[in-house]
Amino acid sequence: MQKKTKQKIHRCTCERCKKHPYGKTAQQHQAINRVLLELNERNKRRFVGVLANQQGRGGTSQLAEITGLSRTTVTRGRKEIEHSNKSLPSGIRRSGAGRPLVEKNSQKY
Ligand SMILES: [Zn+2]
Repeated sequence: MQKKTKQKIHRCTCERCKKHPYGKTAQQHQAINRVLLELNERNKRRFVGVLANQQGRGGTSQLAEITGLSRTTVTRGRKEIEHSNKSLPSGIRRSGAGRPLVEKNSQKY
């Protein structure tokens, strides 16, 4: 892979970051952008898509603002995530599977 020229961390321009550039939210937004730098296009989209999904309504524009990616990119990421959730392999553990509870372990049978 060819080395890209040093990328700069995108600075979030949302209202909260403007008001409190050193606040918790600003730090979170910056952390997101820092992670994004490490990811390739596809993972970037998906990562942002997950975050946007967590935000629910308005998540797309919010994430677009935070990351500087286009809304189209964020939307695409969201869709990819939704899609990949549906096509999870059936071997995925059901809830409740896994290690037995500790209490059960202490019983002797
Ligand atoms: Zn922000």
